[in-house]
Amino acid sequence: MLRSRYEAVIVGGGHNGLVAAAYLARAGRRVLVLERLGHVGGLAVSARAFPGVDARLSRYSYLVSLLPSKVVADLGLRIALRRRRYASYTPVGDTGLLVDNGDAARTAASFARVTGGTGELEAWRRFYGMTADVAERVAPTLLEPLADRTAMRSLVGEEAWRDLFERPVGEVVDERFADDTVRGVVLTDALIGTFADPSDPGLLANRCLLYHVIGDGTGDWNVPVGGMGAVSGALADAARAAGAEILTGAEVLAVDPSGEVAFRDADGEHTVTGERILANVPPAVLARLLGDAGPVPEGAQLKVNMVLSRLPRLRDPGVDPAAAFSGTFHINEGRDQLARAYAEASAGRIPSLPPAEVYCHSLTDPSILGPELREAGAHTMTLFGLHMPARLFREDPAGAREAALRATLASMNAVLAEPVEDCLLRAPDGSPCLEAKTPVDLETEAGLPGGHIFHRDLSWPYGEPGRWGVETAFERVLLCGAGARRGGGVSGIPGHNAAMALLT
Ligand SMILES: Cc1cc2nc3c(=O)[nH]c(=O)nc-3n(C[C@H](O)[C@H](O)[C@H](O)COP(=O)(O)OP(=O)(O)OC[C@H]3O[C@@H](n4cnc5c(N)ncnc54)[C@H](O)[C@@H]3O)c2cc1C
Repeated sequence: MLRSRYEAVIVGGGHNGLVAAAYLARAGRRVLVLERLGHVGGLAVSARAFPGVDARLSRYSYLVSLLPSKVVADLGLRIALRRRRYASYTPVGDTGLLVDNGDAARTAASFARVTGGTGELEAWRRFYGMTADVAERVAPTLLEPLADRTAMRSLVGEEAWRDLFERPVGEVVDERFADDTVRGVVLTDALIGTFADPSDPGLLANRCLLYHVIGDGTGDWNVPVGGMGAVSGALADAARAAGAEILTGAEVLAVDPSGEVAFRDADGEHTVTGERILANVPPAVLARLLGDAGPVPEGAQLKVNMVLSRLPRLRDPGVDPAAAFSGTFHINEGRDQLARAYAEASAGRIPSLPPAEVYCHSLTDPSILGPELREAGAHTMTLFGLHMPARLFREDPAGAREAALRATLASMNAVLAEPVEDCLLRAPDGSPCLEAKTPVDLETEAGLPGGHIFHRDLSWPYGEPGRWGVETAFERVLLCGAGARRGGGVSGIPGHNAAMALLT
């Protein structure tokens, strides 16, 4: 039985909405979460994507870095985030660059083989030493009221300020590294989920890089045990246990700045009033609910989920596929390849050699596979393709999806010793276990404007001092999702910050 008034009505039950609900309910506030779909979690969910196949894939987001340990501890979340032994593997001809977190000598030997000396590894250590230092300093501030630009500058120090916050990352990478492969590996963190030229003075790629290297003070990208659904499930449990009401199948139709929220569920249309409304939906959706037309952002990725009957063979006999695919496996993501793909996509064409990266969750956490699949040696494989902007899929969504998938698999096969198609598991109906999601698919099925994975382009982690970065033009309406300042990714940070804006 719903009440008619709440202290907070949260529009959307994505992981950030759940974080906000949990903090507010634990502080004794009456909270209602309204979620359009039949389940919570938004883009942080697990799904059995292939009928009859017992594999719970993280359908959209798949690795966790930005979720602060403080949020996990505050909310008593029962989740495990497992560190990957191998950071990355990048095939180069018949060899490849292996970054092994557990064996510095092996990493050094791999750098020497691929780059022909020690200079690139030294440059790599200097660069990531600098980002590690920034991570330690900046991560704790993400859960505090905003610092202004000057305070952020003195916090990170002059070298990091210049190279991460002021100069285009493309220019910095070209200056600090000489090898095209190494340059590309560094640049991918600046381009994941972001359609940008890293040399652009607008610095969008810099902002993307920053959020990819500061997560929880380490920048590590960890595997959520049980898949992303386990993270959202733990958050929903925490919110409910604290007394938050969560209504699924409840689509918000309109939001009034006075605090009134109209929604529709299976029983019809209703209104509730919140002293505050917390919008977990993207800013463009909030604008529509308020009766405005905001600008629609543009996402640029192809997500492919696969279940494999076995791991593909590599061209490099010196590396075990289980090592190569447990970290991030870079596919045609050299600096020049990234630039070419960006130019082709900007000109309205699907890149001829799409840059992409894959990893196999089940190598680090087999718990997402049923016992039979585990025994048979099956694995999940997640592919994230870059430079696939929504504009390429508007005219002919199905045809363009097919073309993008074909080009992406060909790109992957070009660096393997056998086609990945030969390794796909077949579902009981004989179909291969593979699904592809374009930005337009995400717009249609997940209600994500433009398919932008961060709700809108990422923003700098500083701003008007004393504010939380969640404020809107209306006093009673706050953002609590990825579109807030310091939002984006599976972090819970904007959910926490919106709750703190109410509680402090
Ligand atoms: C393919 C893909 C891969 C990604 N990979 C990663 C990754 O590995 N790591 C990472 O950190 N991040 C990743 N991201 C980004 C990350 O998933 C998102 O930025 C983050 O999950 C957003 O969380 P949120 O709670 O703010 O919003 P969302 O998860 O978008 O939740 C918003 C919720 O609002 C609901 N909603 C929408 N409209 C209405 C309405 N009218 N009424 C009621 N409810 C409504 C939606 O159904 C949804 O549940 C990825 C995203 C995608 C798409």
